[in-house]
Amino acid sequence: MEKKFVMKTGGCICGKVKYKVKLDEIPKVFNCHCVDCRKKLGGINSIIALREGALEIDKKELGVYEHPGGSGNKLKKHFCKYCAAPIFSYVEKFNTTYLYAGLLDDVSILKKAKNIHYKNSHFPFMKINEDEISN
Ligand SMILES: [Zn+2]
Ligand SMILES: [Zn+2]
Repeated sequence: MEKKFVMKTGGCICGKVKYKVKLDEIPKVFNCHCVDCRKKLGGINSIIALREGALEIDKKELGVYEHPGGSGNKLKKHFCKYCAAPIFSYVEKFNTTYLYAGLLDDVSILKKAKNIHYKNSHFPFMKINEDEISN
Protein backbone atom coordinates (compact mmCIF):
# COMPACT_ATOMS: atom_id res chain seq x y z
CA MET A 1 0.00 0.00 0.00
CA GLU A 2 1.24 3.44 -0.86
CA LYS A 3 2.19 5.69 2.05
CA LYS A 4 -0.01 8.70 2.55
CA PHE A 5 1.42 12.05 3.54
CA VAL A 6 -0.07 15.35 4.59
CA MET A 7 1.44 18.83 4.28
CA LYS A 8 1.24 20.96 7.40
CA THR A 9 2.45 24.42 8.36
CA GLY A 10 3.84 25.71 11.60
CA GLY A 11 5.77 28.55 13.13
CA CYS A 12 7.06 30.23 16.25
CA ILE A 13 5.38 32.64 18.65
CA CYS A 14 6.66 35.88 17.10
CA GLY A 15 6.02 34.70 13.54
CA LYS A 16 9.55 35.19 12.18
CA VAL A 17 10.05 31.44 11.70
CA LYS A 18 7.56 29.57 9.55
CA TYR A 19 7.82 26.17 7.95
CA LYS A 20 6.11 23.55 5.86
CA VAL A 21 6.42 19.93 6.79
CA LYS A 22 5.43 16.67 5.15
CA LEU A 23 4.07 14.31 7.76
CA ASP A 24 2.95 10.72 7.60
CA GLU A 25 -0.81 10.38 7.83
CA ILE A 26 -0.16 8.85 11.25
CA PRO A 27 2.89 10.76 12.50
CA LYS A 28 5.34 9.22 14.95
CA VAL A 29 4.83 11.33 18.04
CA PHE A 30 6.73 10.98 21.29
CA ASN A 31 6.20 12.65 24.62
CA CYS A 32 9.69 12.93 25.99
CA HIS A 33 10.03 13.04 29.76
CA CYS A 34 13.84 13.28 29.85
CA VAL A 35 15.62 15.78 32.08
CA ASP A 36 17.12 17.48 29.07
CA CYS A 37 13.71 18.33 27.54
CA ARG A 38 12.41 19.29 30.94
CA LYS A 39 15.18 21.82 31.40
CA LYS A 40 14.86 23.14 27.89
CA LEU A 41 11.11 23.67 27.97
CA GLY A 42 10.10 23.54 31.59
CA GLY A 43 7.97 20.44 31.16
CA ILE A 44 7.37 17.42 28.96
CA ASN A 45 8.08 17.74 25.32
CA SER A 46 6.02 16.42 22.40
CA ILE A 47 8.09 15.74 19.31
CA ILE A 48 7.50 14.21 15.89
CA ALA A 49 10.14 12.06 14.18
CA LEU A 50 10.49 13.35 10.62
CA ARG A 51 11.50 11.58 7.43
CA GLU A 52 14.55 12.88 5.65
CA GLY A 53 13.83 16.08 3.72
CA ALA A 54 10.35 16.47 5.23
CA LEU A 55 10.95 19.96 6.62
CA GLU A 56 11.01 23.08 4.44
CA ILE A 57 12.34 25.94 6.49
CA ASP A 58 14.40 29.09 6.08
CA LYS A 59 17.17 28.71 8.65
CA LYS A 60 18.34 32.32 8.79
CA GLU A 61 16.26 33.29 11.83
CA LEU A 62 17.26 30.18 13.77
CA GLY A 63 19.67 29.94 16.65
CA VAL A 64 21.42 26.64 17.27
CA TYR A 65 22.51 25.12 20.55
CA GLU A 66 24.65 22.04 20.24
CA HIS A 67 25.48 19.69 23.08
CA PRO A 68 26.19 16.01 23.71
CA GLY A 69 23.18 13.86 24.61
CA GLY A 70 23.14 11.15 27.25
CA SER A 71 24.84 8.74 24.84
CA GLY A 72 27.61 11.22 23.99
CA ASN A 73 26.21 11.79 20.50
CA LYS A 74 25.48 15.31 19.35
CA LEU A 75 22.12 17.01 19.74
CA LYS A 76 21.51 20.19 17.78
CA LYS A 77 18.61 22.26 18.99
CA HIS A 78 17.20 24.88 16.67
CA PHE A 79 15.09 27.71 18.03
CA CYS A 80 13.80 31.12 16.96
CA LYS A 81 16.47 33.74 17.66
CA TYR A 82 13.81 36.28 18.62
CA CYS A 83 11.15 34.53 20.68
CA ALA A 84 13.19 31.44 21.69
CA ALA A 85 10.45 29.02 20.59
CA PRO A 86 11.98 25.57 19.96
CA ILE A 87 11.56 24.55 16.31
CA PHE A 88 13.36 21.24 15.80
CA SER A 89 16.24 19.14 17.07
CA TYR A 90 18.63 16.96 15.16
CA VAL A 91 19.72 13.83 17.02
CA GLU A 92 22.95 12.42 15.61
CA LYS A 93 22.51 9.02 17.28
CA PHE A 94 19.39 8.32 15.21
CA ASN A 95 20.29 10.57 12.26
CA THR A 96 16.81 12.00 12.71
CA THR A 97 15.21 15.41 12.94
CA TYR A 98 12.48 15.81 15.51
CA LEU A 99 9.95 18.59 15.16
CA TYR A 100 8.44 20.20 18.26
CA ALA A 101 4.82 19.22 17.82
CA GLY A 102 3.30 22.21 19.61
CA LEU A 103 4.42 24.62 16.90
CA LEU A 104 2.22 23.11 14.22
CA ASP A 105 -0.67 25.40 13.30
CA ASP A 106 -3.04 22.42 13.29
CA VAL A 107 -2.41 19.54 15.68
CA SER A 108 -5.58 17.59 14.86
CA ILE A 109 -3.72 14.70 13.19
CA LEU A 110 -1.62 13.99 16.28
CA LYS A 111 -3.89 11.34 17.73
CA LYS A 112 -1.40 9.01 19.39
CA ALA A 113 1.91 9.38 21.18
CA LYS A 114 4.38 7.07 22.89
CA ASN A 115 5.99 8.20 26.10
CA ILE A 116 9.77 7.96 26.24
CA HIS A 117 12.15 8.41 29.16
CA TYR A 118 9.05 8.14 31.29
CA LYS A 119 10.21 5.56 33.80
CA ASN A 120 13.39 7.33 34.80
CA SER A 121 12.25 10.93 35.01
CA HIS A 122 8.53 11.71 34.79
CA PHE A 123 6.76 14.18 37.07
CA PRO A 124 5.07 12.27 39.90
CA PHE A 125 1.73 13.98 39.12
CA MET A 126 1.74 12.60 35.59
CA LYS A 127 0.07 9.19 35.34
CA ILE A 128 0.21 7.34 32.05
CA ASN A 129 -1.14 3.93 31.01
CA GLU A 130 1.46 1.16 30.69
CA ASP A 131 0.56 0.63 26.99
CA GLU A 132 1.45 4.23 26.16
CA ILE A 133 4.96 3.94 27.57
CA SER A 134 7.81 2.77 25.41
CA ASN A 135 10.65 3.16 27.89
ZN1 LIG B 1 9.95 33.61 16.89
ZN1 LIG C 1 13.81 14.53 25.92
